[in-house]
Amino acid sequence: MDGKVDIVVTGTLYIVATPIGNLDDFSPRAQRTLAQVDLIVAEDTRHSAILMRHFGIETPMLSMHEHNELSRIESLLERIRSGQSIAQISDAGTPLINDPGFRLVSAVREVGLPVTTIPGPSAPLVALTLSGLPVHRFSFEGFLPSKEGARTERLQSLAEETRTMIFFESPRRVLSALQTMERCFGGERRVAVARELTKMHESVYTAPLASLLVWIREDPNRLRGEFVLIVEGVCEAVVDGVEALRIVKLLAEELPPRKAAELASKITGVKKNKLYQSLLE
Ligand code: SAM
Repeated sequence: MDGKVDIVVTGTLYIVATPIGNLDDFSPRAQRTLAQVDLIVAEDTRHSAILMRHFGIETPMLSMHEHNELSRIESLLERIRSGQSIAQISDAGTPLINDPGFRLVSAVREVGLPVTTIPGPSAPLVALTLSGLPVHRFSFEGFLPSKEGARTERLQSLAEETRTMIFFESPRRVLSALQTMERCFGGERRVAVARELTKMHESVYTAPLASLLVWIREDPNRLRGEFVLIVEGVCEAVVDGVEALRIVKLLAEELPPRKAAELASKITGVKKNKLYQSLLE
């Protein structure tokens, strides 16, 4: 790293992305920043030391994980105030995204100190871009609860989400997560299983949940590695239809079916005949 122009500004916090599998994705700017800052704050210093050694980066490191983030903040603010530059990294990918760092960034901004980023790989966005599912509106859902009951409850609460959803899942739970999704979203809902992204055995398979489960059971190797699941949102017309049905049924408790259908149609915009027909059915 010697002989390169200084790019690090004193008294600044840098949020630096690291590779999620392919070391060539470690940007030159990220490497130079990490080599030049006074301190690297890492989620797991032993894990990150391997990456740093590989790239000849010798900057001192300090651990900061979810259990000690709050207690570290004051001393890190003090270092930045005194002119030191600090880089925050996580085990892989973009810090803060389901990783520590949010509280530190928040504290740094609150006291008006500078914070900037060296952007790079992030597993959820890589998976989303490869999924073949709509990307113009999406919601990041992180990890699902590990207990079956809580997981079902969370997925049921998302059954009418119209945006594409991004989930992380551990290899141990990916099969049961997909099975619970099939129960909550139905077998027709399309899901992409994005595995080992940017690595040698990267694969992305997108299919309706029912056939996806068959595909997974065909070969246990398909459950190995790191996963992101991308789930298509429910079609807005279906949500409208469900809501319209609820309304027409409520009105029909007080009104004749034709009148209930007419009113529900005015409220929801769904065709009167369709609502009348569904009441008869
Ligand atoms: N902050 C990270 C990022 O921006 O990519 C994500 C951290 S989160 C704690 C780790 C999860 O990301 C893993 O459990 C897995 O679901 C997903 N993940 C990370 N690397 C991956 C890869 N190469 N392929 C697929 N999923 C990956």
